[in-house]
Amino acid sequence: MNRIRLHNTDFEGLNNVYLLDGDDGSGGAAAGDEVVLVDLGVSIPDVRAELVDGLAAHGHDVSDVDRVFLTHWHADHAGLASFVQAESGATLHAHEADAELIAGGEAALREERRRQRDRFVDWGIPEEPRQELDSFLAGHNDLVGDPCDVEPFSDGDTFDVNGRTLEAVHLPGHAAGLSAFADEAAGEAFVGDVILPEYTPNVGGADVRVDAPLSTYVDSLLAVVERDWDVAWPGHRDRIGDPAGRAAEILDHHRERTRRVVDVLDRHGPATPWEVSDRLFGALETIHILHGPGEAYAHLDHLESHGVADRTGSDYDLAVDDPDVDALFPDVDADDDADRSVEH
Ligand SMILES: [Zn+2]
Ligand SMILES: [Zn+2]
Repeated sequence: MNRIRLHNTDFEGLNNVYLLDGDDGSGGAAAGDEVVLVDLGVSIPDVRAELVDGLAAHGHDVSDVDRVFLTHWHADHAGLASFVQAESGATLHAHEADAELIAGGEAALREERRRQRDRFVDWGIPEEPRQELDSFLAGHNDLVGDPCDVEPFSDGDTFDVNGRTLEAVHLPGHAAGLSAFADEAAGEAFVGDVILPEYTPNVGGADVRVDAPLSTYVDSLLAVVERDWDVAWPGHRDRIGDPAGRAAEILDHHRERTRRVVDVLDRHGPATPWEVSDRLFGALETIHILHGPGEAYAHLDHLESHGVADRTGSDYDLAVDDPDVDALFPDVDADDDADRSVEH
């Protein structure tokens, strides 16, 4: 397996494209000669050129690509899909929940933008930052490619790739269709933005289609703990040597954040996701105007679904005094590798 790194327009740092071409020894004697990629990058000329150069460095032309596995619909992972398919006729694989968003190009994205704008009102984002966010997002619509043909897959589908078996593992939360591609025989998985080193993938704002985003994401983190891969290859930054431990750390992070959200409601009374975001993160710019209140919403919604908070219109208020936040999350021991266990 080889990695090609692509620049993007400052979302989560460089994007990783993984090249599985059977020349890296990972498929053993049965290795074939398909050129297979996991994830791509944003659809702008400079990044397109980086992909072409990156493939050339490993002896491939973009027209050689046979298949691309896409972890999720975000433009920094799927933007170049239509370009690669147009050049090569490659089959594009994406989870059924994300396939249409990728296949539809900019028109599908505009539909998504409409859903987002409804949420911005629900979250109590005032007019001015809402307009700033709208124009920021509209200014990035061109990172998405043209319409293309996408082959949808379901959780558990398996693919033979140059002698190795990749299993699609649906791990939603950050995006509705977000999936890892696991090679259980090798103990490794390509995880996209399911878990990332150093910082936590946004939940709540990154895909407003996800119901109960935090609970959904927590279930996905538990699935990563239970799979206990030796190595995860993320969509950004470097390899993750203990994916289960990293998932447990992210779970801790969300438990702490929920505590802070409870604290905000306790001190200040009823608040919208926007107001909670303001207390937690302060003034926000660009994509963070989406991610801040989205994240606050995910936590408030988690509290509401457990009967700890009540919602009236866009306002959330504590329904119980001094709630037991630990009880709202599964108990996973992040520190002890040997005894790590999951209690549901
Ligand atoms: Zn993403
Ligand atoms: Zn990403």
